[in-house]
Amino acid sequence: MFAAVVRHRANTARAARSWDVSATFRSCCLDARCGFSSDAKPPFIDPFTEPPDASTFPAYHPKDYFSFELIHQSTKSNARVGRIHTPHGPIETPGFVAVGTNGALKAAPHGVLRRANLDLMFANTYHLMLQPGAGVVEQAGGLHTFMGRNKPLITDSGGFQVFSLGAIDASDKVNELKKRTKSKHKDGNGLIKQINETGVTFKSYRDGSVYELTPESSVAAQKQLGADIIIPLDELPPYGICDLTLKKSVFKSHRWEARSLRTHLLDLKNQAMYGVVHGGVNDELRELSATYLSSLPFDGFAIGGSLGKDTEELVSMLRKVLRILPDDKPNHVLGIGDPQSVEACVSLGADTFDSTFPTRSARHGSLLTKTRGRINVRNKKFKTLFEPPCWECPCSLCKHHSLAYLHHLDRAKEPMAWTLATEHNLHYMGGMMKELREGILRNEV
Ligand SMILES: [Zn+2]
Repeated sequence: MFAAVVRHRANTARAARSWDVSATFRSCCLDARCGFSSDAKPPFIDPFTEPPDASTFPAYHPKDYFSFELIHQSTKSNARVGRIHTPHGPIETPGFVAVGTNGALKAAPHGVLRRANLDLMFANTYHLMLQPGAGVVEQAGGLHTFMGRNKPLITDSGGFQVFSLGAIDASDKVNELKKRTKSKHKDGNGLIKQINETGVTFKSYRDGSVYELTPESSVAAQKQLGADIIIPLDELPPYGICDLTLKKSVFKSHRWEARSLRTHLLDLKNQAMYGVVHGGVNDELRELSATYLSSLPFDGFAIGGSLGKDTEELVSMLRKVLRILPDDKPNHVLGIGDPQSVEACVSLGADTFDSTFPTRSARHGSLLTKTRGRINVRNKKFKTLFEPPCWECPCSLCKHHSLAYLHHLDRAKEPMAWTLATEHNLHYMGGMMKELREGILRNEV
């Protein structure tokens, strides 16, 4: 049950109020950009405590239910075509991963993904823990059954949302590539109550009740959800913090990920776990993180944390990290979905990417198109343009409707505008990934 996974403290408001939030977020150094905290509550440990050595883990054993098949390595670049085999079917790579935060694409049914040739869908443990609760999903028979989706799923640890919804954001004034979500909660910075070696204690953005997320409870929740690929708990420091604090954070993430992996290995449940490489844009820390996590028996690797302020920083970092990660396991770049960055990452050998970008921008009227570029359907020039966004696109919008009709639906605030635009952008991403795979097979990418 969820209650056994995450300690629910809804009735301990008095205890919660007694915590000193300002102390929790005391500044770590004199660098004005750095507002990220160090641990302020027990248990205290030396922040540079090494994570457990690989020799304390069992050796990696290939799984019969999860594997990565390398189909072709480009002779032109490091790009590769592959296939990830999961209990719920294959994932063709390079592949884009649509985000269904609450177990649903906003404004579009799951079937759109199949039609758009997108194999893997991302769901967020944090949101599902709070609503309807991981225990309810487990009672339903797991997330695949609950959602009615017999295709591959990946869940995150919940940590990203805890830190991005609640943490002090030192990157406010930085044009960071991977913008974190702004909290809609009035008391945004107060959502995280405590971060220490055990885990993170936070307030629900829904009702203010207090939860504790630890490496062990995150994995237990992801076992209840039952996605094909799961993610260990890590810490998400903001962009722009000082190197010393970043180093402490990387060490803590390694310790948390090692605990997560140990918990996962006790009961695999036909799931694969990806380690998450951290280190921001610090080359030394990225190398340290990729090297350490590669030594552990993870099934694949995600590249997380702050990925840089632009595509150039992302590419520079990723080039070094992917050289270290093992070729025979899949990799995933967390939170990247703009076409320019995806194409750059693919040529470096990246396999999968997830982002809310195509679906979120669709709901804001932004369409990705091959011939017109990125367009905003709210522009009045589309009021009388009776042409589809793309003549070749097989989506419902382009097959049956015009830009003028979509412009009208958007102006009239008809929900179908979101549905049609979302379906189109997902088709664009699916089409782009298919073309990239074909280009790699011809050694043109
Ligand atoms: Zn279309």
